[in-house]
Amino acid sequence: MSSVEIDLHKKLKQYFGFNQFKGLQEGVVKSIVDNHNTFVIMPTGGGKSLCYQLPALVEEGTAIVVSPLIALMKNQVDALRGLSSNDGIAHVLNSSLTKNEIKTVMHDIREGTTKLLYVAPESLTKEEYIEFLRSVKISFVAIDEAHCISEWGHDFRPEYRNLKTIIKRLGGDIPIIALTATATPKVQEDILKNLGITDANTFKASFNRPNLFYEVRPKTKNVDADIIRFVKQNSGKSGIIYCLSRKRVEELAQTLQVNGISAVPYHAGLDAKTRARHQDMFLMEDVDVVVATIAFGMGIDKPDVRFVIHHDIPKSIESYYQETGRAGRDGGEGHCLAFYAYKDIEKLEKFMAGKPVAEQEIGHALLQEMVAYAETSMSRRKFILHYFGEEFDEVNGDGADMDDNVRNPKKKHEAKDDVVKLLTIVQRTNQKFKAKEIVNVLVGKVNALIKSHKTDEKPFFGLGKGKDPKHWMALIRQVLVAGLLRKEIETYGVLFLTEEGQKFLEDPQSFMMTEDHTYETSGNDTIIT
Ligand code: ADP
Repeated sequence: MSSVEIDLHKKLKQYFGFNQFKGLQEGVVKSIVDNHNTFVIMPTGGGKSLCYQLPALVEEGTAIVVSPLIALMKNQVDALRGLSSNDGIAHVLNSSLTKNEIKTVMHDIREGTTKLLYVAPESLTKEEYIEFLRSVKISFVAIDEAHCISEWGHDFRPEYRNLKTIIKRLGGDIPIIALTATATPKVQEDILKNLGITDANTFKASFNRPNLFYEVRPKTKNVDADIIRFVKQNSGKSGIIYCLSRKRVEELAQTLQVNGISAVPYHAGLDAKTRARHQDMFLMEDVDVVVATIAFGMGIDKPDVRFVIHHDIPKSIESYYQETGRAGRDGGEGHCLAFYAYKDIEKLEKFMAGKPVAEQEIGHALLQEMVAYAETSMSRRKFILHYFGEEFDEVNGDGADMDDNVRNPKKKHEAKDDVVKLLTIVQRTNQKFKAKEIVNVLVGKVNALIKSHKTDEKPFFGLGKGKDPKHWMALIRQVLVAGLLRKEIETYGVLFLTEEGQKFLEDPQSFMMTEDHTYETSGNDTIIT
């Protein structure tokens, strides 16, 4: 059956009780029902699950849903069972099932009762499951959290790399649906290539969350006091505070408690019962605040989280976007406050030290983006959206004034001549250097790499002498967002001139820039200047 023959609105109402599709859902559902490979990029809360659940319910056979999160699979299966009088409508297939339970699952699939089968990617590698699934009718395979397939995503899982081969074995023409809530252009490309679905219909919703307010503050030794003050000013509101380590989570939760704030800790070191209790307390509003590591939040659907604080800066903008995305899901206020000190970046770099070199380079490149986000004085929303490959009008766009930089703007100044110098250097060095090296060439700083290319002997070497390296770095970041330069991801950040950059060189225009924030270390403290 094709989408033309099914009254999808009627089915939407019948199964889910909704009168209308949300955002891009209708197009996605049609694409799936019409057996196309389909790629869905929608921020958290966008309504991704319905995109494959509805087609699965109306199509013949069983849809396989690959998801890395067991808790999430269970939630979805429970929700689906709630929609139907038949418990067999959805099942999870994983290693925790008993032999009898597996029998029931297989029986229900064979009978055609089961419309959705949730599996973890590692379960799909089991030969006996593959053999079984080959023998039944599969409507399509949906791959949730598809960014896990890419090393450039924030949650790379090697098992995801086998999916293409396995799906092929299940049947040559089974449509594949990939879904994710975060994907930079590079990750999107990886997903399509790795799954072999470059022909997919792609549906990408905007990543803009206009109701979220973004703010970065310097992290001083008084960070705990700063957090307490913030939480007290927002007393009675729900919030999440992310810390990097379990130890810090425990300490901060205690400090908050001692200061009269109802807070509980949450991290993977706590036993499952305590974790579940603390999560429930937060969901049921017995406590206002959860202090947590990133173990907390996957699949948390509390609509009225009013603030997300990062006590420690996360390791990538994707992570930051995901974690802050848990605020304001109901469309109401959501304050995203990050405390930043360069020292924390160095700490994260150290964590990576033992890893394979390629992984380190990726990690380093992702971290540098985080540094740029923290230090930039431009619209933070524009910066984030640019990172996800989206344009944003910082004057009239939705939520344009919702960040600290826009509310307290730094003075802009004309930088046309400097942009020309910068672009000239990128061009004349044959587009082989990363930002840091370009700055060195501009200010005329010699190092081994520059010597090896004999760049220091070139007439343009030191073209930007007399201005601070920080000025040049700020300019590079703003020129990147303006689209005059682009960063090559495969080479971990080599800068290239874009067509627009080329045009700018031929016919320079006014370019207003702001200097970055500088966070200086004095003693143990970081101060903003
Ligand atoms: P995601 O997986 O993209 O984070 P979900 O699938 O969890 O998003 O959906 C987010 C919320 O939106 C859920 O509460 C869901 O019930 C609701 N929702 C989904 N589709 C619709 C719709 N068509 N109309 C109204 N609410 C919807």
